[in-house]
Amino acid sequence: MTGTTLDDYTDRYARRVRGMTASEIRALFAVANRPEVVSLAGGAPYIAALPLDAVGEMLGRLGTDHGVTTLQYGIGQGTLELRERICEVMALSGIDAACGASPDDVVVTVGGQQALDLVARLFLDPGDVVLAEGPTYVGALGVFQAAQAQVVHVPMDSDGLVPEALEAAIAEQARAGRRIKFLYTIPTYQNPTGVTLTEQRREQVLDICERAGLLVVEDDPYGQLGFEGDAPAPLRARRRDGVFYLGTFSKTFAPGLRVGWILAPHAVRDKLVIASEAQILCPSGYAQAAVSTYLGTMPWREQLKVYQEIYRERRDALLAAMADLMPDGTTWTRPGGGLFVWATLPDGLDSKAMMPRAIAARVAYVPGTGFYADGTGNGAMRLNFSFPPPDRIREGVRRLASVMEQDIAM
Ligand code: PMP
Repeated sequence: MTGTTLDDYTDRYARRVRGMTASEIRALFAVANRPEVVSLAGGAPYIAALPLDAVGEMLGRLGTDHGVTTLQYGIGQGTLELRERICEVMALSGIDAACGASPDDVVVTVGGQQALDLVARLFLDPGDVVLAEGPTYVGALGVFQAAQAQVVHVPMDSDGLVPEALEAAIAEQARAGRRIKFLYTIPTYQNPTGVTLTEQRREQVLDICERAGLLVVEDDPYGQLGFEGDAPAPLRARRRDGVFYLGTFSKTFAPGLRVGWILAPHAVRDKLVIASEAQILCPSGYAQAAVSTYLGTMPWREQLKVYQEIYRERRDALLAAMADLMPDGTTWTRPGGGLFVWATLPDGLDSKAMMPRAIAARVAYVPGTGFYADGTGNGAMRLNFSFPPPDRIREGVRRLASVMEQDIAM
């Protein structure tokens, strides 16, 4: 933490560090992870659904049989073997050779998080504006804030980002003489709302950005975790110019390996590699081999279906419990995939102020304020359904609803 009287270093920090504070989610995790608390606050995939014995055996062999390469330094861009596998994964959602996706333009990163940081490093000067959905991913807010950029939220509805609001935001920034560098968007099963941008709006959003000369940073950790049919094709499958596509194996395989990627326009690829080498020299050889061997030798497409089934059942449990138990005036999203539901509370309730009472009642969620750069959002909360089993989800909603009823009565 910066700026406290306990911190002797306050006067020495770089300017960009002054606004750095722990995210609401990080601060919550310590209490939310206590066993007696039903945590609807997390965002962790349900790793226990992996074939852990087989994965463990595969990981062991990477050390014993291939240690000379997997434990060695590698190239900054990431191994060709993994970049080829990544292209197979992207092809599943329609980002294929026909739309210009090539292993040559993939840069392997330490999770989607480093991918975001690299894009920020390449494009953001202090004071630049980034447009993002309101609400948006908390980890992206942290990255943009560290880059001293200003996040301007664009409203969404149940069909995703509102194109007219995007146009209005662009016009307003232009009037104010501020430079917008890119639109950051999570079009599919968004974190934190679970909302998906419709087919028609995808085209509109791309057209608007193209006309305004804005780059698009498409963050897609959840696109392959749909449980109501396929999502509309990613933005990158529709346009090859000006769209950066960020992917990760954190939700489809294992976040502990910290492997993600960027598919970048060819002209930018070298700069991304140079920036990444300055940060990390090269991604972990062992983790890359783990992912490429998993993709090459294990039934990963079937595993996606396993996750989809489990998450559908848990989403259904959450929505059913909310319909049965939530106080009148509460509304919520109905995601077709991903890990999250976004609930809007009855007028007058404040999700941030209610948090200590929720923890005392042994349930945790993330207050909506964590997902806005401007501190708004206290009338909403994010609820996770990927990690707790259905009976715990229902118990969590029961506890949450009774805290809300008490707050309404206050
Ligand atoms: N983007 C979004 C929208 C996310 O939800 C997450 C993880 N919660 C990430 C990026 C980063 O994940 P990772 O670094 O584990 O790939």
